[in-house]
Amino acid sequence: MIISVNVYNFESIVSKHAYYLRGIHSWLALTGAGISQASGLPLLTGDLQGLAVAELFESRLFLSNPSRYWTLYREVYRKWRLATPNAAHIELALQGVRVVTQNVDGLHRDAGTRELVELHGNLQELHCKRCQQVFPSTLVFRNSIPQCPTCKGDLYPGVVFVGEEIQHFSVAVDWAGQCELLLIIGTSLSAEPVRQMPEIVEKSGAIVFQINDNAELLVPRFMASIDTQMTSRD
Ligand SMILES: [Zn+2]
Repeated sequence: MIISVNVYNFESIVSKHAYYLRGIHSWLALTGAGISQASGLPLLTGDLQGLAVAELFESRLFLSNPSRYWTLYREVYRKWRLATPNAAHIELALQGVRVVTQNVDGLHRDAGTRELVELHGNLQELHCKRCQQVFPSTLVFRNSIPQCPTCKGDLYPGVVFVGEEIQHFSVAVDWAGQCELLLIIGTSLSAEPVRQMPEIVEKSGAIVFQINDNAELLVPRFMASIDTQMTSRD
């Protein structure tokens, strides 16, 4: 069962589950686009330069017209890199919570989360498949089609294309098996295989909460209330 937390039921949910929350030491957060809304992201719908932003995540344009693809990438990246982590990203980082994210905006990294799985990659990186090096995405401003500074090979975006295998899911599953509390933030879990995460967690006896809206407000409040519970136990 997923316990949904919102601004209306917050107090009652926290006090109803105070007994469980008191003993929790191991957290895992699973995040999606909703956590970055207050940071002015995402921008996954709509058009830029006459191209659907969604094309950024499909290999079709990248393979058929790399120059157009990178034009779109530059436009999106220019906007995205202005975004900064909001209170939800920051609180998770401050509390040392492990994070599994479906987002490619890199805001959990920017917030300082150390134990982080970015299932769909990261818009802040470019990869060279020839020499296996990783470079910052600022290289896209150097050439119309970015090249590896080391081997001159073509660079690939650091994001996972639709239909490609997501990254490090086995780590996410390990963490899910180890956590006592899973906090789902800003995602409806419509995509496989993340859809399975709550089930994996519940099998090991952990409790699952979900915050879909107002994450920047509710995540810090939620974590603070558990802190209070733990303090009052001592
Ligand atoms: Zn290279």
